[in-house]
Amino acid sequence: MEQEHPFLRDVFPDLAAEVADLLEEEGEHDLAAHARDLRLVGECDCGDDFCQSLRTAPHPKGQPFGEGHRCVTLEPPTGMLVLDVVDDRIMYVEVIDRPPLRRRDAQR
Ligand SMILES: [Zn+2]
Repeated sequence: MEQEHPFLRDVFPDLAAEVADLLEEEGEHDLAAHARDLRLVGECDCGDDFCQSLRTAPHPKGQPFGEGHRCVTLEPPTGMLVLDVVDDRIMYVEVIDRPPLRRRDAQR
């Protein structure tokens, strides 16, 4: 059974909004709509200072994304945001060299 993951926008509202806005700027309107409903499945545990990457879909660790995979590179004012997209589903958000993410505890 797949457990219920929180919405990205409930945990990292600033990041979720920024990703959606940047996708609109890239003309990725479908992905932008999808970004508003992203779930936060997990956080990267590589331990690198510069990395705050987020998993947004269940996917076996270390496995290649396979067919239908593409990267969407966004252009934030600082650092790097790269989305791993498989068949128009955002699987992973690479958050590199960015200021610490502002976290909001999920509110109900
Ligand atoms: Zn990492």
